[in-house]
Amino acid sequence: MTILGHYRQIGYLFQLVSHGVFTRQIVALMLLVWLPQTHAAWVEKTAAVMGTHISVELWHPNEARANQLAQDVIDEMWRIDLLMSPFREESELSRINRQASHAPVHITQEMYQLLKKADGFSRLSQGAFDITFASVGQLYDYREATRPEPKSVNALLPMINFRHLLLDPTAQTVAFAIDGVQIDLGGIAKGHAVDRAIEHLKAAGVKHALVTAGGDSRILGDRKGRPWNVAIRNPRDKKATIVLLPLANSAISTSGDYERYFEADGVRYHHIISPKTGQSPSQLRSVTVIGGDATTTDALSTTLFVLGLKKGLKLIGSLTDIDAVIIDSQGKMHYSKGLAEPER
Ligand code: AMP
Ligand code: MG
Repeated sequence: MTILGHYRQIGYLFQLVSHGVFTRQIVALMLLVWLPQTHAAWVEKTAAVMGTHISVELWHPNEARANQLAQDVIDEMWRIDLLMSPFREESELSRINRQASHAPVHITQEMYQLLKKADGFSRLSQGAFDITFASVGQLYDYREATRPEPKSVNALLPMINFRHLLLDPTAQTVAFAIDGVQIDLGGIAKGHAVDRAIEHLKAAGVKHALVTAGGDSRILGDRKGRPWNVAIRNPRDKKATIVLLPLANSAISTSGDYERYFEADGVRYHHIISPKTGQSPSQLRSVTVIGGDATTTDALSTTLFVLGLKKGLKLIGSLTDIDAVIIDSQGKMHYSKGLAEPER
């Protein structure tokens, strides 16, 4: 095991040298993490929402209240799914996609603010993060392993451009500048949902909680005197962990090429799309971003996946209090400057 050095507010970054082969220390550490809690006021709930695995773990002095708050988190995930799912015809997102190329669509304040944030990440990354990727992305079906012909991709590529989204703050509307534009919030909505859940818990006086939606997590406080340990998995081995990150009061998101994908003719077609090409980037296997809130880490992990190693680390270097762990196409790990280099 290599200890990488002091990390953020507390703790250390542990790297498992031979991927998936745990040393005794790591096994001990992980047992501490994964043994079920016996304290009555620790509550854990899981659910399948937003096409992903949701979990919440929290501590509250009153067990009944703890259970209610954990249920509130799951309910909040359902609410956001109803608003933002591309698979529900009645969602606000689907309504925008149906109507916004005809006329400005009046949207909820929550949707408006998230679209505005998405626009901010598009500008920050010069279009690597772009929710209009869906104009082409909708042609891929990862379950059915179907992909568009290159000529269909080329025909729709001009519809990918965040500048096609016209946001009017006074009227609180969104419009598409041209026909054929489609949006999808899959790269930012789970982080938003996690942030909403944590804000709710904070307002209710909770001091220790971990909320996860798929690859996006946020941690409130510590684990009563110990850090929360969040694992980065080996992108090529579901069961193996590569890094454990002991964290408190942080958000962490991982984007990977292993989440939704199929392979054809030796190419891995996965769910992250480069707005420039309409294809899945192949330079990286996974990107983990650590920061203050999950909307930011969610958007940035997707962004870095598109930007690739060099531009990705440059972007992280230009931001304060954001770090990244990147695994490249050879399985090699790279860290942003805020994470210490491994001891030799
Ligand atoms: P994540 O796991 O957070 O990286 O999110 C992946 C999801 O982001 C995909 O399933 C798409 O819904 C969405 N997505 C894919 N490519 C992009 C892109 N270039 N910009 C914004 N969102 C994207
Ligand atoms: Mg993301």
